[in-house]
Formats: sequence, structure tokens, C-alpha cells
Amino acid sequence: MAITDHDLILNESDSQRLSGELGIMVIPGVELTTTAGHLIILNPKRRFNGLSLEGAVKTAHQEGSTVIIPHPMDPLSHGIGISEARSLIPYSPLIETLNASTLSYYNSKATSFALRNSLPMVAGSDAHLADAVGDAYTVVDSPSSDPASVILSISAGKTMPRGKRTSAVTLAKTVCTRLIRRVRC
Ligand SMILES: [Zn+2]
Repeated sequence: MAITDHDLILNESDSQRLSGELGIMVIPGVELTTTAGHLIILNPKRRFNGLSLEGAVKTAHQEGSTVIIPHPMDPLSHGIGISEARSLIPYSPLIETLNASTLSYYNSKATSFALRNSLPMVAGSDAHLADAVGDAYTVVDSPSSDPASVILSISAGKTMPRGKRTSAVTLAKTVCTRLIRRVRC
């Protein structure tokens, strides 16, 4: 499971602790809020505060982290949009073509973009509630189940998006939970 909280990086010791507690592989990551939209970095080596979209991608690329463009064509979820996505093609990012919280229309547009540009595809549950975890998931073709090997295979684009969109009931629960949290804040 990749944990990609908004602008909050799970450090290595926390991800190892969680792996032990949950009995599953936990891949650290972050969903960055850039001025151009959202960007996922798996296995980040540093904080990315204050970097532009391209600056963050370039740095992550150089440091061997994995860059995923989540829900790229969905403006309602802060997708970066087609022109920004095109500008990142030289960095061979993975494209999230199945986001469980996004409308099928936007997922189809993301799939067309990935296919047209021969970019690898992934799926993500984008879960904000436990109920939605795993609705969409990525099958990784890795020679071993060792975390380093799995991360390497993801970076190499040996990935297949699978799963389904989150149910309307769970999405409604997510919206209510987020509103309640905001009111409490
Ligand atoms: Zn997002």
C-alpha cells in the first residue's frame, strides 16, 4: 500500500513500523500540491516545499523517486491538465488512468493521453476513508516481493491499472467526513 497524504511525507521509520503492524508492504509517498495541481512522488528522499511542478518532477527524477501524475485530466480534483502533463513527458511519469474517485470521463481522457504518449499507467484508490482503500489498485510485475524490487518495477512502468470506481455511497461518506473535519477545524 502506498500512503500518499497531501503534502505530508511518511518517514522511513513510520512506514517500517506500519508495515510491521499491518503485515503488508507500505511504500512511503506524498501527494504534493503544486501551483499547477497535484503530483504524487513515491519513495521521496526529501521535502518538496516551494518547488514548481517541473522543479519537483526534475528533483524527484534525479533522486530516483517515482513520479505519478494523479487524476491528470480532472480539474475538480486539481489535476494538472493536458498542457502541463505534456511538458512532463520527457521525465516519463506514470499516469494514473484509473482514479477511483474521479469521473470515468476524466479517467478515459487520462488513458488516451497515456496511450498516445506511450506512458505507463497506474490506478489509485485516492482513498480518504478506509472503506475506499483498494477500490482501484495497481498490479506490479516485480521479480520479487522485496519492497526495493517492487518500487523499481513501478518506476520501470511494469504496472497495470485494475479495480473500479468507489461507490457513490462511500464517496458521499467521504465528502461528509471532510466537511465535518473542516467545521471542527
Ligand atoms: Zn489529488
